[in-house]
Amino acid sequence: MSDQDTVQEYLQVVATVREFVEEQMELGFAVLAEPESAEPENPSPFAGFDISRLRDEAMACERCELHATRNTVVFGTGNDKADLMFVGEAPGADEDQQGEPFVGRAGQLLTKIIMAMGLTRDDVYIANIIKCRPPGNRNPKPVEIETCEPFLLKQVELIQPKVICALGSFAAQALLHTDEKISRLRGRFHDYHGAKLMPTYHPAFLLRNPHSKREVWEDMKKVMAELGPGGNTDTGQ
Ligand code: SF4
Repeated sequence: MSDQDTVQEYLQVVATVREFVEEQMELGFAVLAEPESAEPENPSPFAGFDISRLRDEAMACERCELHATRNTVVFGTGNDKADLMFVGEAPGADEDQQGEPFVGRAGQLLTKIIMAMGLTRDDVYIANIIKCRPPGNRNPKPVEIETCEPFLLKQVELIQPKVICALGSFAAQALLHTDEKISRLRGRFHDYHGAKLMPTYHPAFLLRNPHSKREVWEDMKKVMAELGPGGNTDTGQ
């Protein structure tokens, strides 16, 4: 093939590609020609916040109707450099009074589970998806979850836990955006914003169904194995 033939072939290819692109643009597929955006799909409203500023923002939050009936905001507690984070549904009456998650009977059982793992509440971080108590302990509404979720996402981004343990059906389904039952979700890790998420039964469920403690312990053993020797968390010291 002569040099001239090669040039002709090249020009033919260029013309064909140009024709194809113009056709795509006419059909409304101009986006094909645009470079990919580096921006995240849903940028956090709390960009640049540290944990203390995020807490201040939550404590004054009136973004959803739950602010009107709460006693206090239950932001989260524990080691803000923890490798292990527990996430429940929403504060109950005791939590709403004391401003701390998991302090009622279910909370005492969670404390026992944490101690059985060789840790204390100060080693881990404990939070809820919803930061304010729904009146009468009703289930949070979808709009309340959607409104409050950026706080939890930012907590996860700042704390960077290796493992998140979702406590109960509601927390697991809300975090994983699924309708699947907790009995099918538990027992294995799921990906969640860079962390490994282990759904397990809620301590309140265990109070009513003590025979399920064995399954929770199986889940916690997997969590400990994932965390490494001793199930250690980063104390930041
Ligand atoms: S539940 Fe969340 S979004 Fe609603 S008022 Fe409380 S902190 Fe704000």
